[in-house]
Amino acid sequence: MTARILDGAETARQIREELREPVRQLSSRGLRPGLGVLLVGDDPASAIYVRNKTRACDDLGVFHETALLPATATTDEVAARVRDFNGRPEIHGILVQTPLPPQVETARVLGLVDPAKDVDGFHAENVGLLVQKRPRFVACTPAGIMELLARHDIPVSGRRAVVLGRSDIVGKPMALLLLHADATVTVAHSRTRDLPSVTREADILVVAIGRAGLVRAEHVKPGAVVVDVGMNRIETLEQAADLLDEGRLQAFRTKGQALVGDVHAPSVREVASALTPVPGGVGPLTIAMLMSNTVRAAASHQG
Ligand code: NAP
Repeated sequence: MTARILDGAETARQIREELREPVRQLSSRGLRPGLGVLLVGDDPASAIYVRNKTRACDDLGVFHETALLPATATTDEVAARVRDFNGRPEIHGILVQTPLPPQVETARVLGLVDPAKDVDGFHAENVGLLVQKRPRFVACTPAGIMELLARHDIPVSGRRAVVLGRSDIVGKPMALLLLHADATVTVAHSRTRDLPSVTREADILVVAIGRAGLVRAEHVKPGAVVVDVGMNRIETLEQAADLLDEGRLQAFRTKGQALVGDVHAPSVREVASALTPVPGGVGPLTIAMLMSNTVRAAASHQG
């Protein structure tokens, strides 16, 4: 079997196209959606993520403003910028780019974001609403994965789903969304014993662990749908030769690095019925859902 490739980039493009009209309508009523971004420090990966998100804003006509703070910023200084965004009527959504520097109390900062502007869905109030199946803002990556499954007519109800990874931003909300869609859900993590036997139960396997190529064919039930959330930079030829096909290997030889997922695509492709690529799978969906949440935040601001 060769897996169907689930084109997240194309699904993300569709979602963004569908947002154009609501943005236009809101803007014509003087309610142009606005996103406030907080970037602390000079982590190059964070800078790239923020740039991709603000580009998506520009493309859609969403207003954005980025507050840049130095890597030495204190929790109080970061908190002051969150409060500033909370109080500004032209800012409907707030994004605190993580990770924050170690001296900054991340939980305290995220907890200060006005829940009505929490377009990342990290605030305890929004997490609680999701737990109770009354979602307001849901974390963008798992929300995007549900869109991907729905738009590819992949049924969820009654199926066995395994979520590998239990982070607050991906694994836990992902498990809740699948549960609410009537899947039978197992959450696996680093302490799970005999991982392949657990993941092989899955009709739908979502992998979010941050370990390049860890999930191989032996982890996957034949015919399963596999969603690869991982984004890992590899820099050794040995890893590249194991994980990349010939075309990407050529590019690796020039660049000396490549982006790969948590799934060993060359072997899993032969077992799964469908697989998301990295890059071009879950990443673009995350940004599309951030835009969607920001537009909804602006619309609900209007009442
Ligand atoms: P995280 O907070 O580091 O959590 C990783 C999870 O994986 C933890 O629950 C950990 O278990 C589990 N884990 C780690 N090694 C494992 C192993 N060998 N076997 C089984 N479980 C293991 O990571 P995250 O923030 O969820 O991100 C995961 C990956 O997704 C990263 O590569 C990240 O870059 C990527 N990501 C991509 C997007 C996107 O838009 N595409 C968005 C967010 C994240 P314990 O809990 O037991 O430690």
